[in-house]
Amino acid sequence: MRITCPLCGARDRREFTYYGASVYADRPAEGAAPEVWDDYLHLRDNPAGEITDLWYHELGCSAWIEVTRNTVTHAISATRLLADRATPTKKGARS
Ligand SMILES: [Zn+2]
Repeated sequence: MRITCPLCGARDRREFTYYGASVYADRPAEGAAPEVWDDYLHLRDNPAGEITDLWYHELGCSAWIEVTRNTVTHAISATRLLADRATPTKKGARS
């Protein structure tokens, strides 16, 4: 399998480290309710279809990359730098 790093181009997947669902990057706000932290730490969807994962280009440019792939076909449809996505909303923020 090859993953296209936005900075380095297409590379063998062994250059990357898989970190799981991209929701890992959406850390809850400080002081969020325990239920919000439980959801963040333990609950993940397992869809048959398109998902977005986090990968780290460990043997390349050290960039965090969001990879959109299909869990049925294993086809990768998009990659982008995690830094390029909109700032995530802090879940469970108390005002
Ligand atoms: Zn790279």
